[in-house]
Amino acid sequence: MATVRKAGKKGAKKRDPGPDPGKSRAKSAPIRTTRSVEAKPELEVRPVSKMKEWKLLYQPYPFDESMKISSGTVVKGLCEACAKDDACSLPRPEGGVWRCTEYEQRTAVVTKLEKKRSVYDNVVEQFNKASDLMELDPSVRKILSSAANEVVVHFPVKMDDGRVEIFTGYRVQHNNVLGPFKGGLRFHPSVDIDEVRALAAWMTWKSAIADIPFGGAKGGIQMDPSKYSSGELERITRRFTFALGNTIGPEYDIPAPDVNTNAQIMAWILDTYQSTMPAHERNRCSHVVTGKPIESGGSRGRAKATGQGVVYLIEEWAKDRGFDLEGATYTVQGFGNVGSWAARLLKAHGSRLIAVEDVSGAYVNEHGIDPELLSQYADTHGGVVKDCPELESIGHETFLRVKSDIFIPAALENQITGETAHWLDAKLVAEGANGPTDPDGDAVLRSRGIDVLPDILCNSGGVIVSYFEWLQNKRSEFWDLEEVDRKLHKIIVEAYRKVREAAKSYSGDWRTAAYVVALTRLENAYVMRGIFP
Ligand code: NAD
Repeated sequence: MATVRKAGKKGAKKRDPGPDPGKSRAKSAPIRTTRSVEAKPELEVRPVSKMKEWKLLYQPYPFDESMKISSGTVVKGLCEACAKDDACSLPRPEGGVWRCTEYEQRTAVVTKLEKKRSVYDNVVEQFNKASDLMELDPSVRKILSSAANEVVVHFPVKMDDGRVEIFTGYRVQHNNVLGPFKGGLRFHPSVDIDEVRALAAWMTWKSAIADIPFGGAKGGIQMDPSKYSSGELERITRRFTFALGNTIGPEYDIPAPDVNTNAQIMAWILDTYQSTMPAHERNRCSHVVTGKPIESGGSRGRAKATGQGVVYLIEEWAKDRGFDLEGATYTVQGFGNVGSWAARLLKAHGSRLIAVEDVSGAYVNEHGIDPELLSQYADTHGGVVKDCPELESIGHETFLRVKSDIFIPAALENQITGETAHWLDAKLVAEGANGPTDPDGDAVLRSRGIDVLPDILCNSGGVIVSYFEWLQNKRSEFWDLEEVDRKLHKIIVEAYRKVREAAKSYSGDWRTAAYVVALTRLENAYVMRGIFP
């Protein structure tokens, strides 16, 4: 049996924060609170005499233990000095008002925490912006504002040492008006209902833009797969599949690989699902997952599909801009399935990879990095590029500041924010990852004239070839690579042209344009079908 490459990277080291002094990397996992912070107004500086009032207003706000900030401080409440007495023990004037140092420190921390946005907040903001601009039908807007189904399962798995661990898994099915729910499974510590909700909604928009007959879903297990042996991962995967039961199905909801899952994991899901079916139905459900190994009904070209789609779109962008890819430079964040394939395929245009970042750190070589050699190195070193010869280790901020023509984020969400977007020195951001740019980051990129190929268009190659795999399974066909690539190219370039046309109406805002293309298709479907009953 094939070995697990991405999942189960035993020995893969935690990342080194890098030499950037005083800077912490953008976290993908947002700091969460136990209740909504929407109702609270922006914190303002108040005179000391108002401190008691301020305290009354905010004291009930439950700062729980999860609200640790990077320094390890836990915010529990207000400055004691101010709370005891209107006259602060440590007063100092600023802008005509008196504040104590501790109060100031705490409000700074609270402000920082409040401003943390969840990944799902990003989706809501993007969706609302496009819906307002296109005046989306209010009923359709209501339907698409929430997921159709959200499944959370807790399941036990026996570890190698005989202990039993309980895992939490998710499957969010956002919408299926255009076809069966479709979307990846992610094994990562940041997986939670908020992240999965966001990823499921993005899948709905993505399938709609590509004009393929799928809806949107996403799922995963909250865990760090590098901590488990291959045998443990197999049991976790199989038990998760069993716990999901009929939540998934070949004509209902079809998972695929995502972060830290791969063809091997899909093969285990297929085998478990089939094993729970009556014998005479087993061969009719090989399309319950896509991204399978070719030997188990996978499609040629699926492994590289997302990276291939990213490169097809970079080609289109370059044509439109009159930009020569020969000799162009690019940097890639995330060197897994999407990042490594995009890097390898872009090299064929004579472009030069000069910096790369993965979970082990960030690295540069201005003379050029060979993505083929780097992929081979990662394959044999637990999926990470750390210690690969001829790479100079750099910090996260330095990596983002490397001057290049094209930046391909292909790791996790919220990497390009209002702060980090200022660091980028590129002409194009081609989003291989889902949700790498938050709305603040988007605004900065636009103001700086950096083009963006938005995720729901740019990384749709994966779901497009998943659709081909699904079709091949249903028809008992095997297409050759040339056919898969040709069909992928046709669909993704057509999607690009639709978004480019729409972008002309939205001041070149490609993300909003992509949403409008998706929402228009969904709106048309609902208008024609109506709402049952
Ligand atoms: P993967 O597990 O194969 O690779 C993820 C890569 O990101 C690894 O190289 C890992 O080291 C790196 N990484 C993790 N945390 C990081 C961090 N904090 N900083 C820098 N690098 C980090 O996953 P993948 O399948 O390539 O998916 C990557 C992104 O692409 C995800 O956002 C995923 O949702 C999206 N995507 C994947 C597919 C697909 O077909 N696999 C399709 C569409 C979108």
